[in-house]
Amino acid sequence: MGNVLSAAPDIGLLQSILDGIEESIVVLDKEYRIVCFNSAFRGWLEKPKKKIIGEFCYSVIHDHDVRCNVCIVRDTFRTGQYFETSHSHERENGRVYHETRSYPIKDAKGEVKYAIYMFRDITERALIEEKVRELDKFKKKILDNAGVAINILDKEGNIMNVNRGSETLFGWAEEDVKGEPHSIFYKKEDTELLAKSMRQAFAKGEYKAEVTLVKKNKNEFPAHLTITPVEDDHGSITALIEIVNDLTQLKKAERVIKQQLEKLKELDAMKEEYFYATSHEFKTPLTTITSLTKLLLDGKIGSLTKEQREALELVYCDTRRLRGAVQRILDIAKIESGKMVYHMDRVDIEPIVDEIISTLRILSGSKSIIVNKSVETNLPHVTADKDRLEMAIENLMNNAIKFTPPGGRIDIRAKRDGDSILVEIQDTGIGIPPEDKDKVFEKYYQVKNGQMENVGGSGIGLVICKRIIEAFKGRLWVESKLGEGSTFKFTIPCEGIHGGR
Ligand code: ADP
Repeated sequence: MGNVLSAAPDIGLLQSILDGIEESIVVLDKEYRIVCFNSAFRGWLEKPKKKIIGEFCYSVIHDHDVRCNVCIVRDTFRTGQYFETSHSHERENGRVYHETRSYPIKDAKGEVKYAIYMFRDITERALIEEKVRELDKFKKKILDNAGVAINILDKEGNIMNVNRGSETLFGWAEEDVKGEPHSIFYKKEDTELLAKSMRQAFAKGEYKAEVTLVKKNKNEFPAHLTITPVEDDHGSITALIEIVNDLTQLKKAERVIKQQLEKLKELDAMKEEYFYATSHEFKTPLTTITSLTKLLLDGKIGSLTKEQREALELVYCDTRRLRGAVQRILDIAKIESGKMVYHMDRVDIEPIVDEIISTLRILSGSKSIIVNKSVETNLPHVTADKDRLEMAIENLMNNAIKFTPPGGRIDIRAKRDGDSILVEIQDTGIGIPPEDKDKVFEKYYQVKNGQMENVGGSGIGLVICKRIIEAFKGRLWVESKLGEGSTFKFTIPCEGIHGGR
């Protein structure tokens, strides 16, 4: 600002120039009296003043009797320099914020004669800035309490903010990393991963991965990383949120569980091996007892009294059951180790069904259960291992007898069903709850049922049946109504139609 006054300007012109300026302007003499002002200043005044010219600025502006303690006009008079500042003060309608400037007007000798005091009301902007600062504080509080490490990045991947969780996890204070690329959290050799994470976050709206990250002290740690872009209202990406979950403890726990599991597996294998070996020992004598008992019952070794026959029938039933249990243990071990061998052949279903009904007659008879057979005539052959198929059907029949109360009925049916043969074993037993229908085919699963708590069993029979039927390219399932009975059904493709042997 030059020596306006010494140039003896046209005061009218000067006033119109000042009035054309939006900012409030007052010109003060060295005593802080107003010598000139513009219309913006008059408009800004809260109460209309009768007299402004010649009055002290502090009385006109602030209604004070004394000069303000802090004043840039005073600084201008004292130093002859230009000053600017922003400040706020209370007015009747609330706090107002000003951006103020003060220019010296010097005479020919360079002495400050007047000061031009200009100010602009920036209340609206200041209030917005205040709100933004409040929001920032709020955001920081949320971030700090999030319980995970969060880094806010700009779209180039440079760090804008980190929360307290991140400071604790990585060991970097926010002021140390602000503006740094977020690659400082990655291993040096992971530049490709870094590029991929950014690319994917931009393209798919999110990047998620398990990665290894690096702390300030160079220690590496496993982490789950999520990078999500933040978009403005126009869909442009303005920032990225990087959320880091430290997986160190989880991985440690996983390792411990894995080790324990390995140990348990070893123990399990030892137990199974022992079980298998012992079961094998049982099998031969049990087969001998069953065959000899059968010979005795058939009268092939001599005739029996009624009492002897009844006693022997019990021995036969129980030994056969025991042999079945031992056989199942041996079979499940073979199935699980993939060593089960099937001797596939052309098999006729009806003779198998007859044989089983006859074998189980004593057992079903002991519970007065009627067994009814219905096999369609001229059923085609199936390709199967006869002994294994017999075992599977006997197991299903055994279960039907076991889970049917005395006086019940079992129907075994076999018929053609498209390209397959469908076999159904229907009982009038206790039934299976809907939620257990699939689970009964899982190893060791037994339905909890008060009425039949003591019927015994090991929960592996149906697993074996299912695997055997599947080995013949068939399917086994159950339909049941609790309290009314169950129907176990299986299909096996007919011989020739699916290639057979
Ligand atoms: P186990 O009979 O030795 O317990 P299974 O694998 O043969 O083992 O059968 C598993 C379970 O399925 C049985 O314990 C029983 O709860 C249920 N289950 C099998 N067959 C029937 C049936 N016919 N009626 C009712 N429940 C059955």
